[in-house]
Amino acid sequence: MTSRRDELARSLAQTEARIEAACDAAGRAREDVHLIVVTKFFPASDVELLVDLGVTDIGESRDQEAGEKVAELRTLVGERLPRVHFVGQLQRNKAASVASYADVVHSVDRERLAVALEKGAERSGRQIDVLLQVDLDPDPDPGRGGLPPAEVGDLADRLTAYPSLRLRGVMAVAPLGADPAEAFGRLAVVSETVRAAYPDATVISAGMSADLEQAIAGGATHLRVGTAILGSRPSHR
Ligand SMILES: *Cc1c(COP(=O)(O)O)cnc(C)c1O
Repeated sequence: MTSRRDELARSLAQTEARIEAACDAAGRAREDVHLIVVTKFFPASDVELLVDLGVTDIGESRDQEAGEKVAELRTLVGERLPRVHFVGQLQRNKAASVASYADVVHSVDRERLAVALEKGAERSGRQIDVLLQVDLDPDPDPGRGGLPPAEVGDLADRLTAYPSLRLRGVMAVAPLGADPAEAFGRLAVVSETVRAAYPDATVISAGMSADLEQAIAGGATHLRVGTAILGSRPSHR
């Protein structure tokens, strides 16, 4: 019988092989691409196994689940707590809670959210790295979050007013039904513009289980991979 640990070790190794191959193909160094394992819907016990297997960064997308999991992990893995990335759409009334445990918030797409994150970070005495989520869909779907590429520069400027938030880069999800390579190409252009004004904003968070190769080819520095490592999530909503 295969244990959960063996299962995770195997899928992690398979994902690692995909990342290495894609880095080779793109002529990029493996260490320039960081893997965030998206553990939403999976228990803290899986995260503990992943930490044992060398995972240093996890991604979560729902505040309540994430908060409880991080609390549990503090007991399970103590000092080895992975960096916590909040990758899901974020409501303003959850921002203070997220600011109390997340190291990086990938989904900042409006100033009101920055205000709420700043308040929460300040209250928790923390500094938070933030990414601006870009909507790459030519027909924007208000349900999926992100701001149009043309508005990214303005929000980047506004973030300088929030001392607890550090602008580290951009994030996007490839639009459904579109060519991910083309979409990530547009994200790279947005990233370049942001970096011209804010040289520390070097992060390009892009690429999930289905399109990590195209993301690496397009310059992604951070991949958010769930299903390929943990298996399929129970369906929701
Ligand atoms: C769930 C999620 C992922 C992981 O997607 P997989 O297809 O399971 O790899 C990545 N990014 C975001 C924003 C997500 O919500």
